[in-house]
Amino acid sequence: MQKAFDIGLDSLVAGRPAAAAEAEFVTGVPKRGTFYLETFGCQMNEHDSEKVAGVLLSRGYRQVESVEAASFVLYNTCSIREKAAQKVFSRLGEFRDMPGEPKKIGVLGCVAQQEGEKIFHRTPWVSLVCGSASYSKLPELLSQLEAGEKRVTGLDTDTDETFETELTRRDNPWRAYLTIIEGCDKACSYCVVPYTRGPERSRSSDSVLRELRQLAELGYTEVQFLGQTVNSYADPSPRKLKFSELLCAAAEMPGTRRVRFTTSHPRDFSPDIVEAIDRDERICNHVHLPVQSGSTRVLRAMQRTYSREEYLEKIAMVRGAKRPISVTTDIIVGFPGETEKEFEETLSLLEEVKYDGVFSFKYSPRPNTPAQSMSDAIPEEEKSRRLAILLELQRKIQAAANEKWIGQILEVHVEGKSRKENQWSGHTSCHRVVNFSSAQPDLLGNYVQVKVTGASPNCLIGDHAC
Ligand code: SAM
Ligand code: SF4
Repeated sequence: MQKAFDIGLDSLVAGRPAAAAEAEFVTGVPKRGTFYLETFGCQMNEHDSEKVAGVLLSRGYRQVESVEAASFVLYNTCSIREKAAQKVFSRLGEFRDMPGEPKKIGVLGCVAQQEGEKIFHRTPWVSLVCGSASYSKLPELLSQLEAGEKRVTGLDTDTDETFETELTRRDNPWRAYLTIIEGCDKACSYCVVPYTRGPERSRSSDSVLRELRQLAELGYTEVQFLGQTVNSYADPSPRKLKFSELLCAAAEMPGTRRVRFTTSHPRDFSPDIVEAIDRDERICNHVHLPVQSGSTRVLRAMQRTYSREEYLEKIAMVRGAKRPISVTTDIIVGFPGETEKEFEETLSLLEEVKYDGVFSFKYSPRPNTPAQSMSDAIPEEEKSRRLAILLELQRKIQAAANEKWIGQILEVHVEGKSRKENQWSGHTSCHRVVNFSSAQPDLLGNYVQVKVTGASPNCLIGDHAC
């Protein structure tokens, strides 16, 4: 996978608050032991873990940074591709002959939902299995465990509940994730998400804006709205705010400087979203709009609900904005039956759109999905060959695109400090990583002007322009 917009410095020290490292026992709550929580997968999982950690801290657990130091070990898992799911079982296998006091083990998230009680048979030392659609029941499940039950599960997906909690323990002190829509009602033929995360359900706009106000008061200047299909947001409250209206209301919140959102589904990507970005500079000029394939035939087989031409119309709409909006995407190579010509259509789409970043994946067959039983599987070596060609093309496109920024001044939200002296890193509104030098003592969390002096395919390089 190519992570086009990753923070570019190897030696980067993320700017994290003390609370995020080893969180202390909460005062006034009986002490229950220590927990270690490891997260696999997407930003939604990362944010779910922030909420799970908050729930555990509020019950008297203390967070530690290693399995060895923990009495309760939790894995928040991802099953989007087979490798991600295998990684979880390899972690769980490590407890088979682990010396010392036995630990309580919990499996959360998509693998938990997908495998259910089978996890107990395969790894009998696990005592908690809970899918993300059941997180609101977590306090109840933890009570059962604390009362001595050996095996507890939360596996319902038939829910209209969202996981709302006052207890979130966020990892980043300036940028807050905020899930506004959970689950997915689309039915892409390759994807497990509708099975593992349940049906689409949106949080009320009042509840979202209330949390946002609290975040602004706590000093968070950037918020990132999350959802598998974030722009399919449907306000369940009588206000019935449209997604674009929610973006505008968030941008107007005193103290909020940047509003991001991911992931947008092309089908629901409407002109009012572009108009909102044009109208308010606090709404970031970056759209993540996964296309998956450049071939209409493959898109149909994927059940993506749009053709190549319809997708390109959405891109034309974005390109027609007054502000330059950067566009990133997801691509799957080697979907069953994808011919060489169809793969070349994906390459030609990349050339045509000139994405600012691409996350690309080899197709991985997943349980319960229609694509799993499709014939004409593409051999692994061929998928790897296609992926390498695509990555090389995209590397060239990004290198050329980034060169164009040299000489310009950009606003950077500073999020990291390198171990190298006077080296900092952060993101622009359009989500480019900028590594820059500045002799100023403490820039973390600030918004600074940076003059771009150099570029590589994955980041810009610059100097603090005072
Ligand atoms: N909801 C988003 C959308 O509609 O594009 C994507 C969510 S999914 C967690 C992130 C990406 O994983 C997808 O865009 C797709 O490219 C990739 N993905 C999903 N299922 C996959 C599979 N079975 N094999 C390979 N990649 C997959
Ligand atoms: Fe999966 Fe498609 Fe839903 Fe995205 S829109 S989460 S790819 S089913």
